[in-house]
Amino acid sequence: MEAFDTAVQLEPKTDVWVCTVCGWMYDPKLGLPAKGIEPGTSFEDLPYDFVCPLCHAPKSDFVMKVEVNPDDGGESITNA
Ligand SMILES: [Zn+2]
Repeated sequence: MEAFDTAVQLEPKTDVWVCTVCGWMYDPKLGLPAKGIEPGTSFEDLPYDFVCPLCHAPKSDFVMKVEVNPDDGGESITNA
């Protein structure tokens, strides 16, 4: 039997976040091992006192990077 798809929270958050101060990007798939942050850690799960490793901007200075495919006009969803 298959489980009902009532929960939408199972999808791991893999959003890349960009420092608006210096442009450094946090990729959850990579984490930040140099700071003790393991790969797979979503930006939301970073410690409250996380700061940009380059310019020390706080989490509040980060914005979610919107994934756009320039070859695809941006709007199309091409999940196979
Ligand atoms: Zn920065």
